Amino acid sequence: MNVPDQVGKFLCKLGLHEFRVVEVKFGFGTSGKVEIVECERCKYTTSRLAK
Ligand SMILES: [Zn+2]
Repeated sequence: MNVPDQVGKFLCKLGLHEFRVVEVKFGFGTSGKVEIVECERCKYTTSRLAK
């Protein structure tokens, strides 16, 4: 899927990032696995629980 740049930036502003996993951490809290993810468009980085 190749979203045009301007559409992508707009989606990022809405919080709909195009995340890729850059790191996986184990043993965080009680829920097990946490993924560190980075947006391929705007480089926004956050963490989320892995499913
Ligand atoms: Zn983004």
